[in-house]
Amino acid sequence: MCGIVAYIGQREAYPVVLKGLKRLEYRGYDSAGVAIINNGLQVYKKKDKVAALEEYATSFDMRSPIAIGHTRWATHGEPCDRNAHPHVSGDGKLAMVHNGIIENYVQLKQELINQGHVFQSDTDTEVLLHFIEEIKKQNQCPLEEALRIALKRVVGAYVIVLIDADNPDTLIAARKGSPLVIGVGKGEHFLASDASPIVEYTKEVVYVNDYEIAIIKADELILKNISNERQTPYIQKLDIELAAIEKGGYDHFMLKEIFEQPQTIFDSLRGRLDAKKGTLTMGGIREYAEMLSKANRIIIVACGTSWHAGLIAEYVIEELCRIPVEVEYASEFRYRNPVVGPGDVIIAVSQSGETADTLVAIESAKEKGAIILGICNVVGSSIARLSHAGAYTHAGPEIGVASTKAFTAQLAVLCLVALKIASEKGSVSAQRFQHLLDELEQTSDKVATALKLDDQVKAIADKYKDARDFLYLGRGYNFPVALEGALKLKEISYIHAEGYPAAEMKHGPIALVDENLPVVIVATKDSYYEKVVSNIQEIKARKGKVIAIVTEGDQTIPPMADDVIFVPSADEIVAPIISVIPLQLLAYHIGVLKGFDVDKPRNLAKSVTVE
Ligand code: GLU
Repeated sequence: MCGIVAYIGQREAYPVVLKGLKRLEYRGYDSAGVAIINNGLQVYKKKDKVAALEEYATSFDMRSPIAIGHTRWATHGEPCDRNAHPHVSGDGKLAMVHNGIIENYVQLKQELINQGHVFQSDTDTEVLLHFIEEIKKQNQCPLEEALRIALKRVVGAYVIVLIDADNPDTLIAARKGSPLVIGVGKGEHFLASDASPIVEYTKEVVYVNDYEIAIIKADELILKNISNERQTPYIQKLDIELAAIEKGGYDHFMLKEIFEQPQTIFDSLRGRLDAKKGTLTMGGIREYAEMLSKANRIIIVACGTSWHAGLIAEYVIEELCRIPVEVEYASEFRYRNPVVGPGDVIIAVSQSGETADTLVAIESAKEKGAIILGICNVVGSSIARLSHAGAYTHAGPEIGVASTKAFTAQLAVLCLVALKIASEKGSVSAQRFQHLLDELEQTSDKVATALKLDDQVKAIADKYKDARDFLYLGRGYNFPVALEGALKLKEISYIHAEGYPAAEMKHGPIALVDENLPVVIVATKDSYYEKVVSNIQEIKARKGKVIAIVTEGDQTIPPMADDVIFVPSADEIVAPIISVIPLQLLAYHIGVLKGFDVDKPRNLAKSVTVE
């Protein structure tokens, strides 16, 4: 979702900010802008890509030691130059970028209009800026003080960064609910929505907490809470390398990330699983392992692809741990006044660890006494910090908007969590435990084998790329895999696709089946296999085109299917990690063949920091 970058220090600030905005492009946005101080405040903004802004700015003198930049993902007001950030105060002195939503902006705007303020944009952001300006004027106070007063009245989520033409040596930033990282360099500071614009300059970062205000000069970083008390900035070391956020020879980040999966799955298990010794170490949940094993129930809360990982985990945890599991869309769960309390465990699954709905859902569950277990990819993210216990997925930065490697890493880690709880509880036999450790350890190699299917999948993609709709089916552990396959296709090829439990087909979607409908069936050898074979026959009887994902050596399904993709055999509990690979590739190739920008699909954002 929207990106913020800011710089103050000895370098030219604009090139640093521009490059940073490019690094954040993967998050999804619709317009871009920067503000610098060079003979007063100068603001440049353009609808569309950062490249459009870059071109526009070439005709201006962009020299300045301070700059703020923004990529906007519109929530209030259409994407256009006028609504792009930074916004400027009525007196032309202050410029501000904002990520998030100011929920009570209508009321504030009316008050400000009554006081004579005139607005240039339709955004909630401009309202907040004028509100700060008004407080500053009325109280004759410094900007920092005005901001603090304003934020006490603001309802909503935000990261904001402000500059003031009268104070060109200071950046002021604040956060609530959306992420903000400050990179600490020698005589310079970098601000950004995530670490990717910062990593090439410094590895020392401070994650700003909710309700903190940062006052930043080239050589000074002051953090205060909303009550104006100084906080000690906690400096952490970034553990990502620049190479991890560059394409490294692949045409797209998405393809690079698909092909990274043997490594990322290995990384997600590394140091945790030792199949030879038969041990499983989960440092992040050690203290809570007993409590988890005694949970009355487990509620998995997530959105999008992470929700699919949660659905698979439901099957795995119920099977291995014999604890009832529910899987909830975070956005529904948080508004439903759910019955949650002590004895419940919430597992929050989120790649970014910043997903707004998931974050708020777990905040309220935590207040009600539930134990929160966070499964996140981004280290130090808000969900990770809010959780009592958790495990990072260690998939590395995921830049492609459509999640791939983060999903398989989530599956691997959720399997580990389930095994840990099961062994603590004694609900899994020693033999099965050992078998699953072995199976998990082998998934990385099996995924590497599945990736060799790339050319074959590309040919299938070419054959079906013009289809208007797709149906994806699976049963048991493969049902959520079908959902994920359909989601990937929708996200990057804009083809309508539905995922369904294969048996549910006859209760509706079978009406769609005709000779034009490709049906992707995930039918690897598992306890549901025979049933899926019957479902394939039902589709063939109606002339549907069957693309079957089957286990190597299968001889039953291939004669029935129009296209067959063989994946390595695996225990049904880990099989989804492997069977999803051809579905990721299929979506990728169809998207590329149709000429779409698969790394930045339209309307989508990577890290969904608004609700
Ligand atoms: N709500 C603000 C707007 O619509 C900020 C959106 C964003 O986070 O990019 O301009």
